[in-house]
Amino acid sequence: MRVLKFGGSSVANSENINKIVSILKDRLQKEKLVVVVSALGGTTDALISSIVLASKGNDLYKEELQKIENRHLEMVKQLLPVSQQSRVLSMVKQQCNEIEDICNGVYLLQELTPRTKDRVMSFGELLSSQIISAKFQSAGFENKWVDARKMISTNSNYENAVVNFEVTSQKIHDYFSASKESFFIVPGFIASDKNGITTTLGRGGSDYTASIVAAALDASALEIWTDVSGMMTADPRIVSNAKIIPHVLYREAMELSHFGAKVIYPPTIQPVMKKNIPVWVKSTFAPEHHGTLIENSSIKTDSSVRGISSISKIALLSLEGSGMAGIPGFSKRLFETLANEQINVILITQSSSEHSICVGIEEASAETAKRAVDEAFAIEIERMKVEPLIVEKDLAIIALVGDRMKSHPGISGKMFSALGKNGVNVRAISQGSSERNISAVIATKDVKKAVNVLHEEFFETTYKQVNLFIAGTGNVGSRLLSQLLQQQNYLQKNLHLSVRVVGIANSKKMLFNEKGIDLKNWKELLQNSEAMNLSQFVNTIQSKNLRNSVFVDVTANENVASQYEDVLQQSVSIVACNKIAASSKLRRYEKIKNLAREFNVHFLFETNVGAGLPVIGTLNDLLLSGDKINKIEAVLSGTLNFVFNHYDGTESFAKVVRQAQDEGYTEPDPRLDLSGVDVVRKIMILARESGEKIEMEDIENNAFMPAECMEGSVEDFYNCMGRNEAHFKKIFDEANKAGKKLKFVATYENGKAKVGLQQIDSSHDFYHLYGKDNVVLFYTNRYTGQPLVVKGAGAGAEVTASGVFADIIRSVRI
Ligand code: ADP
Ligand code: ASP
Ligand code: MG
Repeated sequence: MRVLKFGGSSVANSENINKIVSILKDRLQKEKLVVVVSALGGTTDALISSIVLASKGNDLYKEELQKIENRHLEMVKQLLPVSQQSRVLSMVKQQCNEIEDICNGVYLLQELTPRTKDRVMSFGELLSSQIISAKFQSAGFENKWVDARKMISTNSNYENAVVNFEVTSQKIHDYFSASKESFFIVPGFIASDKNGITTTLGRGGSDYTASIVAAALDASALEIWTDVSGMMTADPRIVSNAKIIPHVLYREAMELSHFGAKVIYPPTIQPVMKKNIPVWVKSTFAPEHHGTLIENSSIKTDSSVRGISSISKIALLSLEGSGMAGIPGFSKRLFETLANEQINVILITQSSSEHSICVGIEEASAETAKRAVDEAFAIEIERMKVEPLIVEKDLAIIALVGDRMKSHPGISGKMFSALGKNGVNVRAISQGSSERNISAVIATKDVKKAVNVLHEEFFETTYKQVNLFIAGTGNVGSRLLSQLLQQQNYLQKNLHLSVRVVGIANSKKMLFNEKGIDLKNWKELLQNSEAMNLSQFVNTIQSKNLRNSVFVDVTANENVASQYEDVLQQSVSIVACNKIAASSKLRRYEKIKNLAREFNVHFLFETNVGAGLPVIGTLNDLLLSGDKINKIEAVLSGTLNFVFNHYDGTESFAKVVRQAQDEGYTEPDPRLDLSGVDVVRKIMILARESGEKIEMEDIENNAFMPAECMEGSVEDFYNCMGRNEAHFKKIFDEANKAGKKLKFVATYENGKAKVGLQQIDSSHDFYHLYGKDNVVLFYTNRYTGQPLVVKGAGAGAEVTASGVFADIIRSVRI
């Protein structure tokens, strides 16, 4: 004998019921089968809504009931040949009349008891099971319809009745051993109390009916047929790449379902586990899939975590007080009080100081709990030994489940660090001593992010999703977007990173798409999107609350940089080629770095110095490994290097500068480069990263530009350079005569930094520095005679974009 249960979606329409017929037709000859069915998907909800409307005096309940009736009548007509319809149609009509009579009564009284609600709900399964029984009959499969209420006996706790196993098992046993048939159809979910009054087993309870029957009959297996191909590593509605778990232990399946894996109603496992009956979870829509096998034998897998589940609508109750420590009985009284109110405790934690006990319950019971507990502890509260019960709502529980977690150290460390990096605040933690389950209470708004983060962390075969919000679509921004498009597949395949651009903004427009903006068309999409509003852009990062979010600043804009503090406080990393923040006042630079540390995220700005060259990374590595920077000597302006490498008096100085700008080697405002200010910013950043507390004003800038050229507009600046051609020519000629080259050099030594134009002779490392190259020489305790040299193209959109790209990847991998 085997017991099979088909859920609401499996019986939702005639097409699906025909699928069940084809799944069973070959098996019916071979084996005795008991088929338990749910109500047609959505019917139980519709019945509840009708009776609730009626109880509120709202006569719309009649329309609802009519819809329910029509749906069932329609189904009969679709499933059965005309000649066989009338008996079943009149059964449907008669039962629907009964429902209506009850609802009319409730409407008149405007009073709804749980007992009446159960009675009304029971019609969902009564109708579906009888229609399905008739369908099999008409298809030539003799079967017996069995009223579950005659077999499953419960107490009178309506809506969630408790099964009396002794009586129930006996009845099931007696009934089936007396029957000669080999195919039975049973309505799930419904039962009756000792007075024969209809009860129900709790929402989703048809699974439980099937398990109770399977256990009583010592069935060879229990099969739960549903709309997914098995129990999955996480709720597929939350985690799009959740995987089927092919084998799972009873204990694990039980934990997963208790903590929210809706695919199995939590009490279902217990009865079959006791009898060691294997349970299959299979899909009615893909019967050829393996599904999940739940059983007792140990299964070898690589992963110590079997699955992740979550329950929303949780309230946390905290009973606190100095009078609780060391005095036995407080927790007993707390739990007794909750039990007396029929409140189910889902999670418990108690700090070892015993000053507080914290329990998680369903949010719907929070008010009752508060009233009851405050009443039970009224005397202690009055004597100020305990505080009135603290109730927090809008919470959820997420749980990691796996029998093998106990033999793998570091799982909770990994769990909480992954949550922390994503700014998920953990309100309470509970880990059973079996270590089969580690659960955490978090805010409801964080559930999707948290479950996905954990899924990516513990199921390595899944992709880690990275969500980028990019500000700036100029030279660097647009190159970055095309590099991202080009590398998407590579990153997915080689690094298991699924990098998506979720937001793009420039000074005029902003665009969002949570599923990832199509990078082939971003220009057009951005063009047609909403107007840019910077604070709204940043708020959207927060409201979307996506995991592994990175804010990428490829602007040179102060307003954008002024958002960093807000962004970091949302636990979102920042990657910037914008130098404004790192070169702002020391206090702000330190504050931003501290915030990144505090919120466990990254603030990376490698491209602030030397574009794509690994300058800051190298410096940090030297310091991390215990080295000490004694001196930095560098040519840090790609622009100035380009200008002095190209200028020899044949073309005007202004023209050469214009060429540098046209080729994308200057800052958007070229005066920042020509004045030496950009180099001052860079050497300051290197000095700061070396540990120096230094401000812009502390740096000596031996500028070579005539002061008058730095006033007015960019056009005035070019005109002024034209007027001063002789000045530039003189500087060039002097160096040229001496056989030297001009380089704008930055140095940092003994706590001091300075920048200025120098004549470099051919023996110096800087002499052979061409094009727009940069070079940085690090003299350290370890690199004494010969410095560590970083050299290469130090400007240009393509290399800067690639440096930003590398920072993005770094921010999500460490
Ligand atoms: P039925 O009507 O067949 O009883 P349910 O809706 O009760 O089906 O349960 C199946 C649903 O459970 C799936 O469609 C899926 O969305 C949800 N679900 C939640 N968590 C899990 C999980 N860990 N594995 C599989 N399904 C899950
Ligand atoms: N029909 C019931 C419900 O919707 C029981 C079930 O489907 O398992 O809760
Ligand atoms: Mg279900």
